Formats: sequence, C-alpha cells, structure tokens
Amino acid sequence: MGPPGAGKGTQAKRLAEQFGMKHLSSGDILRAEKAGGSELGKTLAKYMDAGQLVPDDVVVSVMAKALTSDGSAGLLLDGFPRTVPQAQSLDAQLAQAGKPLDAVVVMTADESLILNRITGRWSCPACGEVYHTVTMPPKQAGVCDKCGAALTQRADDTEAVVRKRLDAYNRQTEPVIGYYRSRGDIKMIEVDGGAPAAKVTADIASALKSIKA
Ligand code: AMP
Repeated sequence: MGPPGAGKGTQAKRLAEQFGMKHLSSGDILRAEKAGGSELGKTLAKYMDAGQLVPDDVVVSVMAKALTSDGSAGLLLDGFPRTVPQAQSLDAQLAQAGKPLDAVVVMTADESLILNRITGRWSCPACGEVYHTVTMPPKQAGVCDKCGAALTQRADDTEAVVRKRLDAYNRQTEPVIGYYRSRGDIKMIEVDGGAPAAKVTADIASALKSIKA
C-alpha cells in the first residue's frame, strides 16, 4: 500500500520475481480491460482518467477472478485493496479459500517526491518495466531495455490527475492501513518509499523472509 508514486509497482515486480510470487496489480488489470475497449473498459476509463477510484463492486468482481489464479508460492497484491469495503471483501474471499494474509507492506512518500516521480515516469506497455527520465532512464531513450518495445506515459500521470489520485488515496485508502493495523494478526512492514529502490527491495525482502522463517 502507498500513495501513487511511492514505488509500489516497481517493488512489487522485483519482489514477485525474487520470491516466485504471482504479481497481481489491480491498476494493470484495469488498464488491460480499459485498453480492450469493452463496455466495462469504457466505464473504467471515466474513473481512471479522472484520477478517481473505480467503484468497489466493479473492482471487487474484477479482482475476485484474478485472485483465483494459481499462486502456489503466494500472491503479491499491488493496488488492491484500496478501500475498507474492498479489504473486507478480500478477507472474506481469502477466508473462504483458506489462504492467510501474511503481511501488509506500507510505503510512504512525500508529495513533492511523488509529483516528481510520476511526471517523469515512462513504462513499457509490453512487459510492465518502469523507468524515470532522470533517475532510472532506459539505455536508449523511449525504448524498453528488457523487451525493446516503445515506452509510453500513462494518461493519468499528469500533475492535475496525480493531485486527484493523492486526494483519493488520503481519503479512501489510508484508512485501510488502520483497518489492518487494528486487526493485530497481520505483520505490518513499513518502508520509506523515498529511499533508493534497491534498499527498499532489500528491506521488504528481509521483513518477508522473517515471516516465512
Ligand atoms: P494504479 O496503477 O495502481 O495507480 O491504478 C490506476 C487507477 O486504477 C487508479 O487511479 C484507479 O482509478 C484505478 N484502480 C486501481 N486499483 C484500484 C482499486 N483497488 N480500487 C479502485 N480503483 C482502482
């Protein structure tokens, strides 16, 4: 969990690779549906392009399908749940499947860092690799190092939309951290998302290993 630009996607990708977990990004799943141009995709676009959260019932049903995918080494959820009702419905689905929620990773980042990161962010539509024009540039401008596809910028990565996404985070998503903290049976892993990416990965990885040990 964390505000937009805290580094959730970058870290989730690295940690899923390191631990062999399946990475489920609600943003990626919703963007794929939106790009497909279905009726659902058109509805999603209205919310996503405006920096608003997609309504809970829609996200929960899209994610419920994804959560049944094979994840024998575990699932790493990125961007979901983002509201308390989503967290409650995730709890119910996990309880039914007999799968425990081991840990919640909370990434913090201040507003100026967030704006700077997001407005310089480019990503690969083919493999999901994320770059930054200044801090993590690709070897060749505009081209993915990993798979050679042309990099793109997200439609919702403009300053005006990022401010709306931050507002949605503060109002609707931050309470989810309190929800998990008050449960008392979940390991809360808190990291500074402003630290260098490799340090953040190492800190989260060592906290995750201590659960599995
Ligand atoms: P992200 O890639 O995680 O930044 O998500 C991009 C956009 O997708 C968000 O601004 C929301 O419009 C939508 N979205 C992603 N995950 C959720 C969620 N769990 N609940 C509601 N909307 C979501």
